Amino acid sequence: MTVIIKNGRVIDPSNNLNEPKDLLINKGKIHSLGSPGKLNIANGEQVSIIDAKNCVVCPGLLDMHVHFREPGFEYKETIESGCNSAAAGGFTSVAVMPNTKPVNDTRSVTEHILSLAKKEGIVNLYAIAAITKKLQGESLSEMSDLKDAGAIAFSDDGRPVMNNELMRRAFEYSKMFNLPLIQHSEVLDLTEGGCMNEGMVSTELGLKGMPSEAEDIMVYRDIALLEKTGGRLHVAHISSKNSVELVRQAKAKGLSVTCEVAPHHFTLTDEAVRGYDTNTKMSPPLRTIKDVEAIKEGLSDGTIDIIATDHAPHDIVDKQVEYQNACFGIVGLETALPLSLKLVEEKVLSIYDVIKKLTSTPAEIFNLNAGSLSQGNDADILIFNPTHEYSIDISKFHSKSKNSPFDGWEVKGKVIHTIVRGKTVYSATED
Ligand SMILES: [Zn+2]
Repeated sequence: MTVIIKNGRVIDPSNNLNEPKDLLINKGKIHSLGSPGKLNIANGEQVSIIDAKNCVVCPGLLDMHVHFREPGFEYKETIESGCNSAAAGGFTSVAVMPNTKPVNDTRSVTEHILSLAKKEGIVNLYAIAAITKKLQGESLSEMSDLKDAGAIAFSDDGRPVMNNELMRRAFEYSKMFNLPLIQHSEVLDLTEGGCMNEGMVSTELGLKGMPSEAEDIMVYRDIALLEKTGGRLHVAHISSKNSVELVRQAKAKGLSVTCEVAPHHFTLTDEAVRGYDTNTKMSPPLRTIKDVEAIKEGLSDGTIDIIATDHAPHDIVDKQVEYQNACFGIVGLETALPLSLKLVEEKVLSIYDVIKKLTSTPAEIFNLNAGSLSQGNDADILIFNPTHEYSIDISKFHSKSKNSPFDGWEVKGKVIHTIVRGKTVYSATED
């Protein structure tokens, strides 16, 4: 089966490409790119055409930080519904965090997740395995076994690895395997019982705060350990000004540190908590305008490598409770693209750089054969209209959960088609 995507602007940072091109897909692979109207098709060949007029054609997006809740919490999300949500958001590859039940800390769980994804998932799924057994922070998981089973990185996300000696040994394995450790940076004794950023707003609202120093101290410790042991550190969902600066300095020293930011952390501040909407409760929490400005600076100077959603679906029973008691996190896959494109309007990033932070850079960091329109690659493609305005409607989410603070937001940038291995897995209906 041959497909031609015509009349679009192709943006493929892995090939330094940003120009009008037609793209030909054959047998699920990228066959060729050519000037508009100039692609050669063999005589008599059956071709289906996708018109990408006014659209950007780019590699399908990568999200290296999602929680799909299966096994264990299928009422919030399954691998199948999570993959559908990804496709609706323009993502063709996702990496799932290990805080399922059972925890992904053994080969059999990794293999179970990967085989479910093969059967039921419409996008590519990668597994991140636990650093410590049961995420308890007491002893290391069988990292070598987990790597053999296909884990692409290690993380106790949702929790930090508090024990210094354990983290030091984990870095030694990280070095041996050349796989990154993804840290959820939070010193737990400083945040215990907290439910939002500690500051003026938390004081006014009478809610217990989580100081940004809890993040900074952990980032500092990890960088110090990394400097000693070698290995690779990837800081998950960076949210504080000082943490951004610590990563900047570590990079300047040549250390192998990368980091990600979630769209909510460059879109909202703790002011959003004033209405006590539990959809503004996440970990790390929404911080101050100073932090948001530092994050934007970090995005623009390259300190912050990638955008990842921290997609954290929760059922209504987990969120329709008092603020203090609500679960942390929001669904992210179906709002990430338009929220990231706001950075273009704000002149923080070019559209090319937004796409880079969602395609080729995550692929490089995690060493994945994805995020590129190079010839011969799987035809994993996103077609989106960057100027199409619409309002976010959580009732239309493909995720099983609807916990988002962005319901009703007017945004720009609509996913039109998501294609995986040449097959359309999502198309926008006319609305
Ligand atoms: Zn986390």
